[in-house]
Amino acid sequence: MKRKILFLLFFIGILLSSCTQEKVYEIKVVRVVDDRYDHISEEQFNYILNNNKEVMKEYFDIEIEYIDMGEKKMEEFFADQSKRVPDSEIKDMEKDRYNIFSGDIAKFKPDILKHLKRYKLNTLKGFLSEEEREGIENYEQMADRVMEIYGKKLDSLKKAKAEDRSVLEPDRADLYSSTQWMAIIRNLTRYDAILTNIPLIDDTLFNPCIHTLVRGGITCGFVNSSKTGSRYKESIYFTLFPFISDASFLVSERDANYPQELNIISYQLCHELGHLILKYDEAYNHSNCIMNPPKGLKYKKWYDEITKAGRCKKRHKGYKFLFFAPSRLDWLFTNQNA
Ligand SMILES: [Zn+2]
Ligand SMILES: [Zn+2]
Repeated sequence: MKRKILFLLFFIGILLSSCTQEKVYEIKVVRVVDDRYDHISEEQFNYILNNNKEVMKEYFDIEIEYIDMGEKKMEEFFADQSKRVPDSEIKDMEKDRYNIFSGDIAKFKPDILKHLKRYKLNTLKGFLSEEEREGIENYEQMADRVMEIYGKKLDSLKKAKAEDRSVLEPDRADLYSSTQWMAIIRNLTRYDAILTNIPLIDDTLFNPCIHTLVRGGITCGFVNSSKTGSRYKESIYFTLFPFISDASFLVSERDANYPQELNIISYQLCHELGHLILKYDEAYNHSNCIMNPPKGLKYKKWYDEITKAGRCKKRHKGYKFLFFAPSRLDWLFTNQNA
């Protein structure tokens, strides 16, 4: 009997200590810099991470601790990490990836259509400008329009120059490819987050996202599963490029004078951490919510609305990790009819 009481007290003790224990989420960050693109200073970088910690506390009630894993050069880091990707995954990737310089987007229409049908038509129209959404009455038309916008905006970025050099160079296509980086993240060791300054184009069109499609694929990051690298079983890839590049196309698509708006970057990083730590899905049907991604590259409007509204009180749906299938990038989402 005495033994039972002791065991019970021991159990209650463990329970109490785990409830009162301050939980800190450590994020191991590697900074990967490409000298061909605009970058921010060490001071600005630290400002973003410090601000991000405050915003995570305020919006998610989560304590973050960043562990600096140093700075690397992009070409070297990319080559080293690519070596870790097994040949079978490279073959799958080449088969499934949309080549932004020579691919045929029509091949991905069934995948895009399937993605769009998870949402109400009106939710999807919310991602388009009034002019862009004109005449759309069904999913088929929506898919055609979205593919047209993706192609048009991507073409504008391909024509864009920064310091007399093309922003996207065909011989460096792999470095901009979200599919390529997802494969790297799956095989990543040591890091929870890669922060960089190079363009990132969503070319993972067999598993598309409406909010990046309508930006011409230009995106600031994603979270992908990581087989061995991270305690979160996933890692973040995040680029400053959409915020700080002064390429003319980006300047015309955005709505603020970056990089003076560093808080916007730290808020967007919170969005990724919401995916990483809390496993939240995109909250397309929540207004003014940090988990609802910005429309187009209007990051300032997104930030202004979120800071005005404060913490979102709605319930956030998580996405489920059901199985790992390298050829289809392993994510199956909960069926969300937004
Ligand atoms: Zn997201
Ligand atoms: Zn929300």
